[in-house]
Amino acid sequence: MTPQKFDIAIIGAGLIGSSLAYHLTNRRSMSVALLDIDFEGKYSSSELNAGGARVEWFHRVNIELSQLTLDFLASQPDQFGFRQKGYLWLYDKNKWKTYQRLAPLFKSLELPIEELSPQEVHKRVPYIDEISDIAGASFGARDGIFNPNLLKQFFRTQAKQKDCTFIDGAYVKAIEKQSDGVQITYEDLCADSKRPNDKEVFDILSAGMASTQDLPQKKILASRVVNAAGAWASKIAKLYGHTLDCKPVRRQVSIFDCKGVDLSSCGMIVDTSGVYFHAEAEHILAGFATPNEPSGYNFTYEGDRFFEEHIWPPLAHRMSKAQALKHITGWAGLYEVSPDHSAVVGCVDSNAQIYEAHSFSGHGAMQSYGVGLALAELILDGKFQTIDVSALHPRRFQEGLSKLLYEDFHI
Ligand SMILES: Cc1cc2nc3c(=O)[nH]c(=O)nc-3n(C[C@H](O)[C@H](O)[C@H](O)COP(=O)(O)OP(=O)(O)OC[C@H]3O[C@@H](n4cnc5c(N)ncnc54)[C@H](O)[C@@H]3O)c2cc1C
Repeated sequence: MTPQKFDIAIIGAGLIGSSLAYHLTNRRSMSVALLDIDFEGKYSSSELNAGGARVEWFHRVNIELSQLTLDFLASQPDQFGFRQKGYLWLYDKNKWKTYQRLAPLFKSLELPIEELSPQEVHKRVPYIDEISDIAGASFGARDGIFNPNLLKQFFRTQAKQKDCTFIDGAYVKAIEKQSDGVQITYEDLCADSKRPNDKEVFDILSAGMASTQDLPQKKILASRVVNAAGAWASKIAKLYGHTLDCKPVRRQVSIFDCKGVDLSSCGMIVDTSGVYFHAEAEHILAGFATPNEPSGYNFTYEGDRFFEEHIWPPLAHRMSKAQALKHITGWAGLYEVSPDHSAVVGCVDSNAQIYEAHSFSGHGAMQSYGVGLALAELILDGKFQTIDVSALHPRRFQEGLSKLLYEDFHI
């Protein structure tokens, strides 16, 4: 059977792939295929994240990508569940020094970030009543929390109304360059109108692309292909001969109740311990990046153990009203971590057929609108226009330390 032809095929329909599909079809009439093993995205980072968006980053490109997304969210806050209530970041002595080194960059870019004393923190959020170990704090007034699912659905709905074909249940297994384009071979988990089977999807994604049983194989041909496969991007890159040192790393998030504490007037709060938290419906959501977490496709939420070891102690220390927290539930998802904790974005072959946008290292949700726009411009115009993200090209990893964009402001 002759493979169906597309102008552009995007592998991965998370926030990044969906944003790109939106921007491409918004700019020009063209045929775009968006492929994913599971459009529901049960194990995708876009479904499992904390929804925080902020401009405080070490590098200008990361600041600007977040800014573009924040501006977009602020343009239709209700559509994206955007609560622009700020990002309050508490620093111990060391981190306060780091912040102060960055402050001139924030000032030069006129970012609306206030510096707060520990006493001002307490005044702003009276629940925070242990301030003796806080050296200083910053408050990004334009930052906030949004609903990543609503943003992803917006991108998808808009793209679908133009000429974007969704190929669900497509487990991409081979990518080959041919004389007339790039051929993608995928196993079809939706054959005979089936929904992708949950267990099958989990087995494949948690094993980081294991071999499957005999599913029907299908092919499509595209002039250009984009790897937006999140924590699986290195595996996809291998299919076209590109070796990357980007790794999946588990991150856990807990949901709990805290009687007498109402954080609904606050945005995200990041404690000196690294625990971040915000109001989530009538509950509180908190996450923490456990140190030395091994890389791997691990989706196990450790439940009470994680909550009692990592979430409860720092919060009970910081807020006397948080002594009695009631753990409800939680989940684990994957950060897609690059060697310098900045994303990988760019064209990776000499004849401009293969592009990548992945490894956002825990900040892809807040950069998704900006990255989709930048990459769509690179693909359609041959150069970045609105924002230059060439510093994120994967070749930086071969060009030495000075080209790395090491980000230490991740949580
Ligand atoms: C606990 C947690 C908290 C986070 N908090 C924040 C936050 O507050 N703010 C923020 O900005 N970011 C946050 N992030 C990070 C953010 O979620 C990610 O950076 C972002 O969602 C990445 O989107 P993506 O589209 O690149 O990847 P994904 O959403 O993971 O999408 C990749 C897609 O590729 C598909 N795929 C993989 N392999 C194949 C294959 N072989 N064939 C077909 N399809 C395939 C997968 O099914 C998946 O749907 C958090 C992440 C986690 C885990």
